[in-house]
Amino acid sequence: MDTLSACPLCRGRWKSIPAPPVAIGQSVFSESFGLARCHTCNVRFVNPRPSAENLERFYNSDGYECHTVAKASDPRIRLDVVERLRRPSSLCDFGCGSGELLRAAQKRGWDVCGIEPGAPRKHLEFDIYPDSSKMGQQVDVVTMVHVLEHCPSPADTLSDLRKALKPNGLIYIEVPNVNSLRARLGGSFLKPLWTHDPERYLAFPIHLFYFHPSSLKKLLAAQGYKILEIGTMGMGVEELFTPKPQAVSRDDSSPVGSSGNGSRFQFAKNVVKRALYGSMLGENLYVVATVS
Ligand SMILES: [Zn+2]
Repeated sequence: MDTLSACPLCRGRWKSIPAPPVAIGQSVFSESFGLARCHTCNVRFVNPRPSAENLERFYNSDGYECHTVAKASDPRIRLDVVERLRRPSSLCDFGCGSGELLRAAQKRGWDVCGIEPGAPRKHLEFDIYPDSSKMGQQVDVVTMVHVLEHCPSPADTLSDLRKALKPNGLIYIEVPNVNSLRARLGGSFLKPLWTHDPERYLAFPIHLFYFHPSSLKKLLAAQGYKILEIGTMGMGVEELFTPKPQAVSRDDSSPVGSSGNGSRFQFAKNVVKRALYGSMLGENLYVVATVS
């Protein structure tokens, strides 16, 4: 167990806040962990937190599959966001998992490679490196989809990745939004009535950080990145409309207005999506930044 004396993002002072009532990884972690909130950059982080050795044991354990839900949504959505800003020809996916995003990028004709800290557990058809220093070439785009919240030192990771980017290269980062509507409702007076898991702390304690839009902005600025676009996506919108969330698709991350079925439900859903994404209340927070 490691105890941090200052905020790992900005070195600011922090205060303890109530830890989530549930935690994952009980078979690997025997200690109980805490939660803190930085006074300066507003990030929430696990403190005390699991040691690096125990985190590695957890990730190498058979039961680890908490990423499958987050990564199951269509990777093309992320590539579309990038392509609105630049026409890249090469991409590196940090934390590439089973390679869905790399396959989607390759289909667009881009050169692709991946980074998997530690030993990759699955054999992939791509070049996979243990860290960015081993890449040997720079790329136009680095993607990190639901990865940064797992990094023990996000500042160091982002600093290293700058060197992996070509001049004017882009980094696409997506993390759970600690300030999402569902997270807010789950923590509000509605809690006794709100049957859907707010998901904010679903992966406590292996999600070491819980980012607010402002904390992510400050972190990137401190590491020399210039933000080009920030927004939210994904809402669990169906769950707001239907009484049985388990019976409907979870993949509601598609861009607003992309469906043409014209039903009143679809129209209402798109209105809600537009309002919530615009208010930065979507489930996932994404940012595209360039090296400045
Ligand atoms: Zn801080």
